[in-house]
This record gives sequence, C-alpha cells and structure tokens, in this order.
Amino acid sequence: MNKYKVATLACYVVLIFAIIVAVASVPKAKDDSKANPNVDKKFEEIYVEIQKTGEYMYGLSDTAVRNSHYSKPHTTYHRLCPECADLWGKKKEGIVEVPVDRLKELRSLSSPSQSGQAETDQPVEVLTIEEELDSILLLLKQQQSHLYTNKYTAEIQYHYLKKHKHPKPGIEGGCPECIALRKKQTTKMEFISKQEYERLLETEDRAKEHKNDTQD
Ligand SMILES: [Zn+2]
Ligand SMILES: [Zn+2]
Repeated sequence: MNKYKVATLACYVVLIFAIIVAVASVPKAKDDSKANPNVDKKFEEIYVEIQKTGEYMYGLSDTAVRNSHYSKPHTTYHRLCPECADLWGKKKEGIVEVPVDRLKELRSLSSPSQSGQAETDQPVEVLTIEEELDSILLLLKQQQSHLYTNKYTAEIQYHYLKKHKHPKPGIEGGCPECIALRKKQTTKMEFISKQEYERLLETEDRAKEHKNDTQD
C-alpha cells in the first residue's frame, strides 16, 4: 500500500469514526439543581450547540468525500466512498435502513407500555462538573476529527480540480502545489508599507554583515 492510499484509508477511518460519534447520542447534563440550576442549564446549552455543530461538520465531511469522488473522478468502485456505495454498492439482502426516530415511533405503536416504561425506569445519573468538562472535551476532539476529514478531502479536490502535475494529492502525497497552498493558509501575514519592508531588510543585511565581521 502506498503512502497516499494509507493516508486516504486513515482519512476514511476517521470519517467513519466521526459518523459513529454523530449517530451516538450526546451525554446529557443531569438534573443537579441542588448544586446550581444555572450551571446545569449552561451545560445543557453547550451540549446542544456542540451537537448541532457536529451535525453540520458531518454533513460537510460527507459531501466533501462525495465531491472528491467526482473531482478524482472514481470510475470504478472505491471501498469506503459513500457516493460509490450509493451508486454501485450492493445492498445487504434482508436489511433495510430506517431513521432512528421513525423506528422509535413504529416500535412504540407495537408495544406502547414498554416504550414508556423504559424511559421512566432509567436512573438519573448526576455528573460532576469535571465529568461534564471531560464530556465536552471529548466532543470537541471528535469535532476536530470531522474537520480533519473536511480539510484533507478539500485538499484532494483542489489537487484534482486544478489538475496539479504531481501524481499524488495533498501534503501526504507530497504535491509541491498542495504544500504551497497549506503554507499560505497557515502562515500568519500582515500588510506593511513597501518602504518599511525595505528598511527592515536593510537592517537585517547590516546585522548579518556585522555577525560575519565579528566571526572573522
Ligand atoms: Zn467514489
Ligand atoms: Zn496538488
């Protein structure tokens, strides 16, 4: 397996992990109103915001991977590509995909007493502030993995859409044009006058000369 394939695979693994996380429910701040109801309310709000952002990021990642399918473009089936899976993937026999909320609705119709019971029987878990903060940190790290997938996939798209000459895309593929873009994006810049810039360069030259003189 070459470096690019490994990087792509790693990227998809990250994406799949991120999808699992997005699907899994976010831990809820428990009712610890004795301590401070306002703090609990704030935690609840933070979870809602993080969950929403995570949903947007997941959408972005998924669309980005689908876009790279067309910018490459994939002419044969690529494992782990959602667009390939939709277009050419074999559906598993005897398995149907049902939205979670819809499934809950259907199941509650077939056994209404059981579904009501399950919710009231659940013990109320009280989290400490430290545990709440740990949950938030975990969620933020998971969001970072969504963002990584987005960034990496966008790089691949840029490479293929701009038709770079290097055979492999991105930093991982060692493409000089992709590397130059990343450097431009991550180097902090400031606008100054040409005059000042020239004066600064002259000072630098003088400093270098002085250093050489003292070394000789
Ligand atoms: Zn594909
Ligand atoms: Zn490139």
